[in-house]
Amino acid sequence: MSTDKLVDFDEVLSRYEPVIGLETHVELGTASKMFCGCSTTFGAEPNTQTCPVCLGLPGALPVANAAAIEATIRIGLALGCRIATWCRFARKNYFYPDIPKGFQTSQYDEPLCTAGHLDVEVDGETYRVEIERVHLEEDTGKNLHVGGSTGRIHGADHSLIDYNRAGIPLVEIVTRPIPGAGAKAPEVARAYVDELREIVRTLGVSDVKMEQGSLRCDVNLSIAPIGSLEWGTRSETKNVNSLRSVERAVRYEMRRQAAVLDEGGRVVQETRHFHEDSGSTSSGRSKEEATDYRYFPEPDLVPVAPDEEWVEKLAAALPELPAARRARLSEEWGISPTEMAWVVNAGAVDLVGDTVAAGASPADARKWWLGELARRANDAGVELAELAVTPAQVAELVALVAAGTINDQLARQTLDGVLAGEGDPAQVVEARGLAVMGESDELVAAVDAAIEGNPDVAEKVRSGKVQAIGALVGAVMKTTRGKADAATVKRMLEERLS
Ligand SMILES: [Zn+2]
Repeated sequence: MSTDKLVDFDEVLSRYEPVIGLETHVELGTASKMFCGCSTTFGAEPNTQTCPVCLGLPGALPVANAAAIEATIRIGLALGCRIATWCRFARKNYFYPDIPKGFQTSQYDEPLCTAGHLDVEVDGETYRVEIERVHLEEDTGKNLHVGGSTGRIHGADHSLIDYNRAGIPLVEIVTRPIPGAGAKAPEVARAYVDELREIVRTLGVSDVKMEQGSLRCDVNLSIAPIGSLEWGTRSETKNVNSLRSVERAVRYEMRRQAAVLDEGGRVVQETRHFHEDSGSTSSGRSKEEATDYRYFPEPDLVPVAPDEEWVEKLAAALPELPAARRARLSEEWGISPTEMAWVVNAGAVDLVGDTVAAGASPADARKWWLGELARRANDAGVELAELAVTPAQVAELVALVAAGTINDQLARQTLDGVLAGEGDPAQVVEARGLAVMGESDELVAAVDAAIEGNPDVAEKVRSGKVQAIGALVGAVMKTTRGKADAATVKRMLEERLS
């Protein structure tokens, strides 16, 4: 339980200005580890994917993974970074059981990529996030503390270590401090991680699954009195594992630090843990005395010197990046940036795009995915993409409506069938008998019955109160269980009552 005093969020903003900073770790999806040939497959039996190199046995020699270097350069290029023409790995020395070598092979003062930026949009406003560096390092193993109630080392009887993850290539993307976001700081932090994830996913270099830890984020936050020339002391909340948590961690730290400063205290520079259940943070390791990692250049690895021509080729071969794609699609679909933002927020860019590619109009594709289908996903508590309906099926549904085979109401019933696994829309329409009735004997009988059953309404229509016809249309739709076409029914009624 957190005992932190918190200041109301709006009140924080009346007195303080937040500065955010984000350090994001992306585990690359290479087949083998960073400095050895061990497999990187997730979820294998503990310690089955290890060798003398990643276990740090004496005499073992590392060799850098070229695919990982290429992936890192591509991330740097996508973020507009300068790519180093020559750089080295370094040893970051510290003692912890999950690093078997006694040091982590990382990059220190010679990162592979520097000085980039990423623009993110929040509520129609663009915030430029400056990227300080993108560097390559190796992941640590995983500790499992057994016997305690919290899974943390305190209270545990013993600990187990799995080195399968040790040595998996890890890219660290570090922003410069981001001032000026004010009340939007939590959303800007979230939007940045979201956009970065989309870019990495588009590059195809990681599966960026936050829940499996292949994308993890450390959230730095400080606040200072408005107008102050100096920034405040920052806290560093480690391993925040969902987009929502990034936003909550920023919000919580703003409120907590404001309470500390309000009471005349000072914010301690420290790492903090984020708690998903309560949305709070708690104190971890103090960083007031900077740890001396005794960095020095790795003597067992040759320097990395990417050939300029090769880097140019990589730059030219970058795929269309998410922001450019959104701009192109909103133009192709003829929608405003705000409307595009709705599609993005609904997680429907690919779904709408694929539905349009399957033949639906952009307007129809958006209407179904953002309307009926979004409602159903929401009711079921799942993401839109998890619904059991494909873009091709939605396009088919739209085509059936356009051809007059079904109307919107019947289309919703058709969707019930598709989502229940009864097949494609046309099959469902056939099997469930959902097609709109033509001017059949059945429909003629239903129209006649409606007039006979409502003589007073029929009389009103005959005497010129045309809007009364709605009640008769409703009656026919009811008898035909919505399968008649309302416009046809109206015309048939008008013919009979004129
Ligand atoms: Zn290995």
